[in-house]
Amino acid sequence: MPIAKSVILAHKKRGGSRKALWFAVAAGIPCFGVVAAFGVAPDTLDDKLRVERIVQEIALPPLPVVGTSEHDTFVREERIQRGDTVAALLARLAVDDPDAVDFIRRSRDARSLTQLRPGRSVRAETAADGSMQSLTYLTPNGLLLSIERHGDGFEVSEQQADLESQPLMASGEIRSSLFAATDAAGLADAVAIQIAEIFSSHIDFHRDLRRGDRFSVVYEGLHHDGELVRTGRVLAAEFVNQGKSYKAVWFEAGSGQGGYYSPDGNSLRKAFLRSPLEFSRISSGFTHARFHPILKQWTAHRGTDYAAPTGTRVRTTADGVVSFVGRQGGYGNLVIVQHHGKYSTYYAHLSGFAPGIGKGARVSQGDFVGYVGQTGLATGPHLHYEFHINGVQHDPVKVALPEAVPITRELRSAFETRALPLAHQLGLMRQASVAALH
Ligand SMILES: [Zn+2]
Repeated sequence: MPIAKSVILAHKKRGGSRKALWFAVAAGIPCFGVVAAFGVAPDTLDDKLRVERIVQEIALPPLPVVGTSEHDTFVREERIQRGDTVAALLARLAVDDPDAVDFIRRSRDARSLTQLRPGRSVRAETAADGSMQSLTYLTPNGLLLSIERHGDGFEVSEQQADLESQPLMASGEIRSSLFAATDAAGLADAVAIQIAEIFSSHIDFHRDLRRGDRFSVVYEGLHHDGELVRTGRVLAAEFVNQGKSYKAVWFEAGSGQGGYYSPDGNSLRKAFLRSPLEFSRISSGFTHARFHPILKQWTAHRGTDYAAPTGTRVRTTADGVVSFVGRQGGYGNLVIVQHHGKYSTYYAHLSGFAPGIGKGARVSQGDFVGYVGQTGLATGPHLHYEFHINGVQHDPVKVALPEAVPITRELRSAFETRALPLAHQLGLMRQASVAALH
């Protein structure tokens, strides 16, 4: 395309470096430091498309301008539509540039464009002949990705988008599962999983949930140009399980170390988690209805069974030291963890052990020790969990365990300033959701 090339050269002469132009326009917009730009693996490239790995200072691009700029390039913005192809999207952006289409299709780094969610904006800058000068869009992970023409080729660079946090709220009622309820409330899975984690010392989300349980949650929504890019941390939550209310407020003491506390200032972390099973959309969908003749004949059978798909991760419920790893009779593949002297926990029927889990290994609460399976006396994949005190099996639900440390006296007033408004908000949300649902 000799004509296109001369046009671009002419453009470059008139406008100077486009990067310099971006800097000029972006003056006053905060600069985001050194950003690594990523080249493309050679096997994905045409020989004529030259791509380099570069590290440079990048400022945020200017706000979109629709129409002609004084430098003979056109900026257009379009939203991704359901079922869009790269070619169709670029055509709507008035890009007439087969090399660009080809590059985006082949480039490993630009591939995220084809995974974009419908509704997301894509901005293109074109020269008068339709050749693509740059393409900018936000990836689902909140990265601002730019493809820029560079001589005969294109360069891909990415940087953290400037995200603005705004608190969002949601409430819901459990009818079948936590995920069904959070889906109905329009909540991301990441928020549902955080809720389960926050209350994991008090509620076993695999076994304790009942129809009619309710939740309210205040969480960070991270936006770019008014679009919700992703969700951040849960700031406050209430979960009403079997009529009992649990509230949590995030509090950080300034040192970067934070945690969840009840509004009266007690940490929600306890010595033991209620469930040894990783909470996920898959593991939460299993019921405990079908237990089964072989286990009934296992006369010494005690403990708690968790039906879950083979491979679901199993975690230790408390800090401790691994005292046994291997095969043991009806237990099949078994891990035993010794905690604080008199307590120990058993994880049985495992399909495999987590890397690094051997006799004598130190583990922290929540560390993965193995994977659900059906080794030993088991007809279906499930985790068999036992909780022992001085070598005798107990029902962990009925054992009184030491509470975690409360907020210190020095931090009390800072905590209350933060926690009380959030707790009040949770109260309002609960009333509103009950009023809406009944
Ligand atoms: Zn069992």
